[in-house]
Amino acid sequence: MEFETRAIHEGSEPDPATGAIVPPIYQTSTYVQRKVGEHQGYEYSRTANPTRTALETCLASLEGAAHGLAFASGMAAEDAILRLLSPGDHILIPNDTYGGTYRLVARVYEPAGLAFTAVDMTEVSACTDAWREETRLVWIETPTNPLLRVIDIEAVATLAHERGAVVVVDNTFATPYLQQPLALGADLVVHSTTKYLGGHSDVVGGFAATNDPGLAERLAFLQNAMGAVPGPFDCWLVLRGVKTLGVRMDRHCANALAVATMLAKHPAVTSVYYPGLDGHQGHTVARRQMRDFGGMVSFALASEEEALEVVTRTKVFALGESLGAVESLIEHPARMTHASVADSPLAVDRRLIRLSVGIEHPNDLVDDLRRALDILL
Ligand code: PLP
Repeated sequence: MEFETRAIHEGSEPDPATGAIVPPIYQTSTYVQRKVGEHQGYEYSRTANPTRTALETCLASLEGAAHGLAFASGMAAEDAILRLLSPGDHILIPNDTYGGTYRLVARVYEPAGLAFTAVDMTEVSACTDAWREETRLVWIETPTNPLLRVIDIEAVATLAHERGAVVVVDNTFATPYLQQPLALGADLVVHSTTKYLGGHSDVVGGFAATNDPGLAERLAFLQNAMGAVPGPFDCWLVLRGVKTLGVRMDRHCANALAVATMLAKHPAVTSVYYPGLDGHQGHTVARRQMRDFGGMVSFALASEEEALEVVTRTKVFALGESLGAVESLIEHPARMTHASVADSPLAVDRRLIRLSVGIEHPNDLVDDLRRALDILL
């Protein structure tokens, strides 16, 4: 079945008890056993819950994965993956990775004995240069947050596999609709389902998927042992959101291109970062490994003062953190989403503005931004 059909039907059989077409929210912590150990697959909701199973089945199918595991947040999913490593291991991360990923690696795992190097993965040779004998995992995020740099998943995965390392792709920005990391050679995919998969700014969640039964078993152990699981209602919200992922992403992409095209022509804008623009660093690779270029756009102005002014001037774009929902958001990464990396090699240009382009009418989005920028002229 095609992606859009699986997004609606995978994991969502009509309820056998009532025929309900939507999977129920199984708001239960425990399950009655007929005899000790004789149950219908569920014992305790930290270990498994039917609403969570429905979500895990659906998202795994969308990523082309045999195994999927839902977590309480994107960071909880990332944490479970990093726990697969041991003290003394070394990992590579992009030098433009999400600030929360950097914080987790640098401030939680490095003190616990994990070594890491942040490299510009847009050049595969940077991975070769930073490689150590103890390198066990390569963490890819593409497109990156906030500069929308594009990393060649297949090329990095080939290099990592030749050297025996595991490859993880944070697919939050692209979603499985636009990019299929496992098919491109990654071993694991991770998501903040808070973003496009949920799609409506009403839930926080995370997800990891793999085709490797050994990795799946270890992650399932960690999911249960650590207990950072999403509740049934949160699973239900993501499952509902994901049904419209394809149509939403088509509109996000079309709107983002319209906005990026306007920004590229505006005299107050000094640079625009959108993989869909011809001159973008990763345009060629993005064309090859993505179906379309996504809904995130960043751009720079002449000064931080101008950037701080513009983010408060838009009316349709709301000033706020997060991304990937139906409504458009604008933010100042250096002071907001990426404040935690201010004193690190990942520090963000203070003149930068990041947009999460929603699915409103494109004319309203373009007019809103143009009006806010024209004040600078
Ligand atoms: N990965 C990326 C690319 C993100 O943008 C975020 C959050 O912004 C996360 C992971 C973390 O997800 P969560 O906020 O759901 O913990």
